[in-house]
Amino acid sequence: MADSRVKQRYAVIGGGWAGCAAAMELARAGHAVTLYEAARTLGGRARRVERENTVLDNGQHILLGAYTETLRLIRLAGQDPAELILTLPLQMRYPAASGGMDFVAPRLPAPLHLAWALLRAKGLRRADKLALMRFSTAMRWMDWQLHNDCTVSALLQRFDQTDTLNRLMWHPLCLAALNTPPGRASARVFINVLRDSLGARRRRASDMLIPKADLSALFPDAAARYVAQHGGQVKTGAKVAALQSLADGRWQLDDGEHFDAVIVATSSVQAAALLQGVADARLNQSIGQMQALTTEAISTCYLQYAASVRLDLPFYALVDAPEQQHWGQFVFDRGQLDTGQAGLLAVVISASGTAAEQGHGPLAQAIATQLAHALRRPELAQPLWTQLITEKRATFACTPDLLRPGNASGVPGLLLAGDYTAGDDRRQDYPATIEAAVRSGVAAARAAGEGRQAARQPQ
Ligand SMILES: Cc1cc2nc3c(=O)[nH]c(=O)nc-3n(C[C@H](O)[C@H](O)[C@H](O)COP(=O)(O)OP(=O)(O)OC[C@H]3O[C@@H](n4cnc5c(N)ncnc54)[C@H](O)[C@@H]3O)c2cc1C
Repeated sequence: MADSRVKQRYAVIGGGWAGCAAAMELARAGHAVTLYEAARTLGGRARRVERENTVLDNGQHILLGAYTETLRLIRLAGQDPAELILTLPLQMRYPAASGGMDFVAPRLPAPLHLAWALLRAKGLRRADKLALMRFSTAMRWMDWQLHNDCTVSALLQRFDQTDTLNRLMWHPLCLAALNTPPGRASARVFINVLRDSLGARRRRASDMLIPKADLSALFPDAAARYVAQHGGQVKTGAKVAALQSLADGRWQLDDGEHFDAVIVATSSVQAAALLQGVADARLNQSIGQMQALTTEAISTCYLQYAASVRLDLPFYALVDAPEQQHWGQFVFDRGQLDTGQAGLLAVVISASGTAAEQGHGPLAQAIATQLAHALRRPELAQPLWTQLITEKRATFACTPDLLRPGNASGVPGLLLAGDYTAGDDRRQDYPATIEAAVRSGVAAARAAGEGRQAARQPQ
């Protein structure tokens, strides 16, 4: 008997983590999928770049154990996270004597691991520990829900968080998770991230995961192999300039190919431009929401030293004090992740607009001086070479009560995916992260599949 299912043809535009996740999900469900990526390398804002004859990432990334969809798809794509990712317990560790704190969650069941870490934390006074305990108890009581959104600063003030906690724990966490300064960041989204990591019933959800492989190799390249193995096509260096809806409900791309449905998985800026070209008033709301999003930059400064240079830990938090030209917020020892990168340090600056204005030379030198000072290692003031990569539109600014488009664009057969999209449930709103991108890709693919099935059902 012939298979009654007709194979649907889907296009996914954009080969970042959202597009790769969408293409994999469609291929897994047995659909014919073509993934278009404008760049030669897959991965979008989390991708491999080559500088100084070294394979780097466009920005140092950190994942969380709570990134369940990302980890699921990495495995589905045939990759072994245990081999490709360094898993560390939740921690906020500053170099000794740098005026920071030392907080490491032990391998105990949740939430005991946090209580124990707090008890043992160095650099925090009793008042700081009590304030932190009160905060986490209150969040549990509130079931991690905030009915009226406000800024993270207002939330911390409401729960009497101390200056030390704000400076050493909450501000760096907020910047790392939301890439938006606490004075402008959404408390609701911040609480969602805390709920899924600190507040999770599984201790592993709060683990910090640092990729050892380059970001494209970790997932997008493997996703492309999976799509090809399932009969799909992946086209790199293939920018889609226009899409057009046809009278029969299908879509045509500017290369002349026809598809039953299209998932636009680009950044919000690029998606708004593509959707405007469709010239359909039903898209106006999504386009308006995309255009209203503002962006924040992230800079990563790579500093190469002699191969013998090694830090005591794979990564440290750094006291961020722009008034003293101390711009770095975290430093990673790439040599502990990949033996081929011995002596390479990566320093991250989130919400880096002002820092990036200093220019490459002065900023890299200021960071080298900061490292030498914070780690008490004068030799770090003189790297062999530095590379500064600033992604000006790294993420959307995650401000309170943000209105974000969903996966449905408003026009049948045209779906949206990307870290900027959001579902109906505000408890699931995530900042612009890899996990948000992957979840959106999977959700858009499922909606696309269901939409076409429903459309084909007899009335
Ligand atoms: C420096 C930096 C550090 C970050 N750190 C972290 C972190 O530590 N942890 C974390 O979870 N997240 C982090 N993020 C955020 C994370 O990288 C992003 O949220 C995620 O990669 C976004 O994926 P995406 O697929 O939604 O969009 P994108 O990555 O922007 O993918 C869109 C893709 O579409 C392609 N494209 C655009 N237009 C077209 C077209 N017309 N035709 C074909 N292709 C097109 C683009 O080339 C791009 O590859 C960081 C981001 C940056 C920039």
